[in-house]
Amino acid sequence: QDTLSRIDPELFAAISAENKRQEDHIELIASENYVSCAVMEAQGSQLTNKYAEGYPGKRYYGGCEHVDVAEQIAIDRLKALFGAEAANVQPNSGSQANQAVLMAFAKPGDTIMGMSLAEGGHLTHGMPMNMSGKWFNVVAYGLDEKEEIDYDKMEALAREHKPKIIVAGASAYALRIDFERFAKVAKEIGAIFWVDMAHYAGLIAAGYYPNPVPHADVVTSTTHKTLRGPRGGVILMRAEHEKAINSAIFPGLQGGPLMHVIAAKAVAFKEAATVEFKNYQEQVVRNARVMARVLGEERGLRIVSGRTESHVFLVDLRNKKITGKEAEAVLGKAHITVNKNGIPNDPEKPFVTSGIRIGSPAMTTRGFTEIEAERIAHLVADVLDAPNDEAVLERVRNEVASLCKKFPVYGA
Ligand code: PLP
Repeated sequence: QDTLSRIDPELFAAISAENKRQEDHIELIASENYVSCAVMEAQGSQLTNKYAEGYPGKRYYGGCEHVDVAEQIAIDRLKALFGAEAANVQPNSGSQANQAVLMAFAKPGDTIMGMSLAEGGHLTHGMPMNMSGKWFNVVAYGLDEKEEIDYDKMEALAREHKPKIIVAGASAYALRIDFERFAKVAKEIGAIFWVDMAHYAGLIAAGYYPNPVPHADVVTSTTHKTLRGPRGGVILMRAEHEKAINSAIFPGLQGGPLMHVIAAKAVAFKEAATVEFKNYQEQVVRNARVMARVLGEERGLRIVSGRTESHVFLVDLRNKKITGKEAEAVLGKAHITVNKNGIPNDPEKPFVTSGIRIGSPAMTTRGFTEIEAERIAHLVADVLDAPNDEAVLERVRNEVASLCKKFPVYGA
């Protein structure tokens, strides 16, 4: 049989080792999740073989009748999930979805406004080394002294600079975003209001975070974070913007869409409309809240903005005299995976940082509830309190192993 293990044992070994890592480590990276076997089955299907430049019913290749069905199902499900007038399911990634918005609504040299990366925004919202920052004149808003979005400043900057596009959305912001307030000022100055809901999409689909779709001209997302689908991007929009966005994706930025990924997205959107998914997202929010409470109130760490209202929060490590880089490494040794993350006004360089970002989506998918969330927060704090104590690391590793064994992701 032409199995991967026989044809390519070297690669098979790497994949097997990664499967084992995913089973044996507690995943607290806020942007990751474990997809269902049905999603993987669709993504591993023969649809990977098909070229389908264009859109359903209007392709530049023959033989598209079945992939047309798959793409239309994905579009219809996505529109229904978020209540959108139109949708594009072809972006290969969240970044490409975001590039399409810039391409559709602005020209190089135009002014755009987004949240600064250092205060929680994403690279593609105007970071100087990203295309969004190199090709556009960027005005950035950030946080106030309570570490909440400084809406007054954002409005003042919008009125002063009159950006073509205002983007709301973040990669490291724990609180609810007031999309209505953004929409109001965007309307006042005639800007396109774009929301990048990548981090919150699953919570939004389930009703645990405000839905930006009624307020925004265009909404982009990844499909692989809280939404628990395959890696990729999507765009939701008002019907009036469909033509501009669709032509920005193809032929503007991409060629043939990844039809196997689009099929897997369709599966994830079906799953996201179920009661089980709603219950899952409720648990995601509860688990994040428990971890933030234990770390902040019981274990003496500072939680940025004081709390979380979502799946994610940032931990300020400075009073533990450990950097984000060191914390990521030592937690990794204890088989707990997090990522270092800058905190507001971080004195350390971006590759070092003074914080870590913690998220609950993946750990909740494997079945952890508040009981395990509380225990995990204590394990994280135990490691951060004694990063050089091998005995502590060994004890935490053992506890992690027994938790993971009790809650397998995909089974043996
Ligand atoms: N937008 C936000 C808010 C994100 O957090 C991310 C990824 O971290 C992206 C966009 C980019 O997604 P991708 O990594 O698929 O390009």
